[in-house]
Amino acid sequence: AGVDALAPLESTVSDAERFRDAAFLPLRCACGARFAFGGIVASRDYVVSFHGIKCAACAAVLPTLRVTAQLERIIRAHISRYYAGWLVCDDSACGIATRQISVYGKRCIGLSGTAHGCKGIMRYRYSDKALYNQLLYLDSIFDIEKAKKGLLKPFEGPEALSHALVEALAVHNAVFFGVCRGVVQKYLSDCGRRYVDMGGLFNFMEK
Ligand SMILES: [Zn+2]
Ligand SMILES: [Zn+2]
Repeated sequence: AGVDALAPLESTVSDAERFRDAAFLPLRCACGARFAFGGIVASRDYVVSFHGIKCAACAAVLPTLRVTAQLERIIRAHISRYYAGWLVCDDSACGIATRQISVYGKRCIGLSGTAHGCKGIMRYRYSDKALYNQLLYLDSIFDIEKAKKGLLKPFEGPEALSHALVEALAVHNAVFFGVCRGVVQKYLSDCGRRYVDMGGLFNFMEK
């Protein structure tokens, strides 16, 4: 399962498709406005200026530390959600959620607790693949090469920014985005290693 699960991460898939289920980065401005950040793309809630991310509500630029602190906090929240380790039954009529891997492996223990009550299969609600993909997404929004090539997952609605503008913004924000990427990379390398390890656990679960 580990190797097969890696296949969709290959470069043949567009970011819009690959990161369809990944969450945008939520940011909170000092003015209290909250918005979803998705990189140098068109948004109604923020603009990337030559000097950083500017809140559309108050026109203030978010200081680098404000962005990196929130980025790190969100990454940790995703990781704790993953470690909570909830398994959920894929039979919608059952929907049992548990933190225990039953002695019956991937089979749902059902309401009776004996694995005879339900034909469902237990799956990780927040899988290692989903976590890894989420971190890859957070990395992508600070990847200026991806921005320049117009590969980022867009927001629905606003008209896309011109290529020339994106190019100029990418150059001006290279250092700032590099710092943000460093924050993600720190966790991504750990997670990548664990992702490979987790393949072993999944193989056990598939039996
Ligand atoms: Zn603001
Ligand atoms: Zn079930």
